[in-house]
Amino acid sequence: MKIISNPLELKEYLKENKSSAGSIRDFQGNQSVGFVPTMGALHEGHITLIKRAREENELVVVSIFLNPTQFLKGEDLDKYPKKDDADKIICEKSGVDVLFFPNADDIYADDEVSLLAPNIRGYVLEGTSRPSHFNGVLTVVMKLLNIVNPTKAYFGKKDAQQLNLISLMVKQLFMDVKVIAVDTVREKDGLALSSRNTYLNEIERKEALKISSSLYLASKMVSQNIFASKDIVEKMRECLHPLEIAYVEILNRDFELIQEVEIGNSIILVEALVGRTRLLDNIWL
Ligand code: AMP
Repeated sequence: MKIISNPLELKEYLKENKSSAGSIRDFQGNQSVGFVPTMGALHEGHITLIKRAREENELVVVSIFLNPTQFLKGEDLDKYPKKDDADKIICEKSGVDVLFFPNADDIYADDEVSLLAPNIRGYVLEGTSRPSHFNGVLTVVMKLLNIVNPTKAYFGKKDAQQLNLISLMVKQLFMDVKVIAVDTVREKDGLALSSRNTYLNEIERKEALKISSSLYLASKMVSQNIFASKDIVEKMRECLHPLEIAYVEILNRDFELIQEVEIGNSIILVEALVGRTRLLDNIWL
C-alpha cells in the first residue's frame, strides 16, 4: 500500500497507474478507481465501504483527513479520536492500494474558494444546529474528488443528509463520479457504528440503544400498516425519552417532509444527545 500526503503527487501517481493493465475499466478505458473518504478512527462501517470499493474497482483509494472546516467552534475537532497507526494497518489488510493522508495545509490555503450548501436542504436536520457544517463537508469532498478523480465514490447511508447533499452536488455541478450508498453497519445490539461511540461511557452506551430501538419501533409500526408520520414520530419520541432529541423526522428520499411513510421511498432520521455526544441514525424504508 502506498501512502501519499501531497495532492499533486497523488494525482500524478493515479494518472500513471490508471492506464496500466487491469480488467475493471471506467468509461474512458482507464482502470476504475474506487474512493472512500473518511476522517479516520476506522471501524467496521468504514471497512465495509472499503471492501465494497475493493470488489468493484481495480484501484482503491482511501483518504483519512480530519476536515477542520466541517467542525464548528466548540465542537469536538480537538478531541476527535485519532488512530493513525491502527488505521494504516486496517487499510493495508483491507486491500487498499493508496492511502491519502494529507495535512490541513495540503488541502487548504489562507484565502479559500469554498462551496455553499443549498439554502434549504443544507440548513435542516443536522444543519439546524451546525449551520456551516455542510459547507465544509461539500468543500472538502469536492476537493478530494477532484484530487482522486474516482470512477465511484462510496458513502454511508448512516450520514443520510451528507449522502443526499453530496449526490446533489455531483448532479448539480455535473461531476463525473458515481456516488455509491452503502448500508449502515451496526453492533450486534443495534447501535450504529460511529467513531464518536468511543466517547460513550458504559451507562451512555446503554442509553444510546434507545436510538436504534426507536427506529426498529418505527419499522415495526410500518409493518403493522401504521404509516402516519405524526403517530410514528410520537411513539419514537416516547421510546427515546429521556434523551435530548435534536430531531426525529420522516422524509422521502429527496429529503422532503412527508405526512405518511411511502414504502421504498422513505427515510426516518434521528439525532439525539447521549450525555454530551451527538449521535445520528436513520432507517430507510
Ligand atoms: P467518517 O469517517 O465518520 O467521516 O465516515 C466516513 C464514511 O463512512 C462516511 O461516508 C460515513 O457515512 C461512513 N460510515 C460511518 N459510519 C458508518 C456505518 N456505521 N456504516 C456504514 N457507513 C458508515
